[in-house]
Amino acid sequence: MSGDEEHARRLDREDPLRSWRERFCIPPSPAHDDGRESIYLCGNSLGLQPKAVRTFLERELDDWARLGVEGHFHAEIPWYRYHEALREPAARLVGARPHEVVLMNSLTVNLHLLLISFYRPTPARPRILLDGPCFPSDVYAAKSQLRLHGRDPEADLAWVRPRPGEHTVRAEDIEEVLAREGSSIATVLLGGVNYLTGQRHDLRRLARAAHAAGCLFGVDLAHAAGNVPLALHDDEVDFAVWCSYKYLNSGAGAVAGAFVHERHLGRGGEEDYAAFRALPRCEGWWGNDPDTRFAMEEEFLPVRSADAWQLSNPPIYALAPAKVAYDMFDEVGMPALRRKSERLTAYLLERIDAIGSEAFEVVTPRDPAQRGCQLSILVHERPRELHAALAAAGVVCDFREPNVVRVAPTPFYNTFHDCWAFAEVLRQAAAAHGGA
Ligand SMILES: *Cc1c(COP(=O)(O)O)cnc(C)c1O
Repeated sequence: MSGDEEHARRLDREDPLRSWRERFCIPPSPAHDDGRESIYLCGNSLGLQPKAVRTFLERELDDWARLGVEGHFHAEIPWYRYHEALREPAARLVGARPHEVVLMNSLTVNLHLLLISFYRPTPARPRILLDGPCFPSDVYAAKSQLRLHGRDPEADLAWVRPRPGEHTVRAEDIEEVLAREGSSIATVLLGGVNYLTGQRHDLRRLARAAHAAGCLFGVDLAHAAGNVPLALHDDEVDFAVWCSYKYLNSGAGAVAGAFVHERHLGRGGEEDYAAFRALPRCEGWWGNDPDTRFAMEEEFLPVRSADAWQLSNPPIYALAPAKVAYDMFDEVGMPALRRKSERLTAYLLERIDAIGSEAFEVVTPRDPAQRGCQLSILVHERPRELHAALAAAGVVCDFREPNVVRVAPTPFYNTFHDCWAFAEVLRQAAAAHGGA
């Protein structure tokens, strides 16, 4: 063992969160047949399975087998209010009040549901502002919402992109666009942590700029939830969506989250509630006040919470893994996870820098406050070959066309040794594939 490897091992021994790794299923390396664990740096794409999920799911299946329809009220977590069992952990995770969050659907569905309410174009203010590079699904959602309102999806989509020669968006450039063109923008939709570059935005600062221009401010937190601390309520974000299968370890296609700021929930007086009722939204029985839900009235009375956007009764066998996973976040807490995450990613960056290769560069911001755990490596020569060489050495990390390798050491189950081992593989692969 080299001195550097011994150092990584020591950092792991001193890590106060080290025992959490044992509570996850670490996939064996697909490149070896000796059962060794993979170097799994892909939690930004699909988080690993908590071992507790299997027994928890079986318990839910037992409740169904044992209780039939009675499970709606007599299961251990009654199905009628199952989504409410996730509300407080989800609220703590994103820095919201409990009535501001709901787990439902998937991310893009939630984005559409919230844009129906919070993208209300007028002739003077018809546009949506996005930041690039933007995840395709968000662009599709924005363009199709524009079309639904009879707007031109090209002309009415405004963009802030990195400056030529730069890889990430400057906050001052977003502020500048809002100051200059904000009066024509109805809704701003940004990524909390950029999926491609790993850049983290200062949501408070940007929400303030959006509001000063008279715009609503929404965020996609797919790469932020469970990765960085969030304070959606205090930051005055108007609405937000996130998925639960990336950093939140709730399983492929897991139930997603939605946040609506209290000021949009009709919790003031009668007039405020009347405006809340009148807000355009897709309505379904699970958005109705639960106290009158079974009165089977024809009049929709939205509950004064984010649940008002919920259409259907909750999918128990999809929410059960999320319940396990969100409870784990609650148990450790984001502050402790973030502390380890900052150290882990700083260590990984240090190891990558030590390679000193010109075959690639890290484009994620170097300021820890401006990133989560992910580092994005822009590969200058033969990027696909480099990624294949990483995979052949047992590294699981993802590749985004045309030339970005994303590596995300997560504080829950990754080790300093994973980071050390990744950098060693990268050093050899870069020497072999990209030149020195
Ligand atoms: C992962 C991701 C999505 C995924 O959307 P689904 O509807 O859950 O499939 C959307 N937006 C961003 C930015 C993402 O990173």
